[in-house]
Amino acid sequence: MEKSFDDVVDFHRHLCLDIAMGYRAGKALTREMGKELRNMKDVFAIVENETCAVDAIQEFTGCTLGKRNLILAGTGKPVYILQNAKSGQAVRLYCKYWETFDADGSFGKRRKQASSPEATTEEQQLFQRELNSKIKEILRAPEDTLFTIQRVTLPAPPKSGKYKAEPCAGCGEHTNIERLTLVGGRKLCRACQAVPVAG
Ligand SMILES: [Zn+2]
Ligand SMILES: [Zn+2]
Repeated sequence: MEKSFDDVVDFHRHLCLDIAMGYRAGKALTREMGKELRNMKDVFAIVENETCAVDAIQEFTGCTLGKRNLILAGTGKPVYILQNAKSGQAVRLYCKYWETFDADGSFGKRRKQASSPEATTEEQQLFQRELNSKIKEILRAPEDTLFTIQRVTLPAPPKSGKYKAEPCAGCGEHTNIERLTLVGGRKLCRACQAVPVAG
């Protein structure tokens, strides 16, 4: 059954602009993918930034970090993709709404002021009202004012899951062997590599 906006907010544990945007993105992607979602075990979500919207994508689509069918691509763009790894068919959604959002920076200033310790109750309430109306705006806006949506074909994402582990020569903790690096003849985990060698 399709998740509601309340489900998504419950999962995220707070109400914000990005959770509303992520909800709209999840809804649009799911609809555009249509039959490609028939077999959810073939479906991956690829997210290109790490914001509150990612929680909405996880809750709405069921693709999660823990299930390893959510991939953090880290390009720093508000881009969300759903892909059927078997067919390669994917829908890519770019959130263009943010391009013009708060162009003069005044919303950001009011947010900063409202969350500062010196903020008056009135300032806080005023900002909260403004935030609520922006969230409503995002929830009601026509899709083509929020997103550009494209159908694309992508190679299947790399498989991840069970891995072989070995103890790190530095700390002794069992570590995925692919994440151990040979340093001066010792296989070290990332944390031990970062520790400067004494002497
Ligand atoms: Zn949030
Ligand atoms: Zn180590």
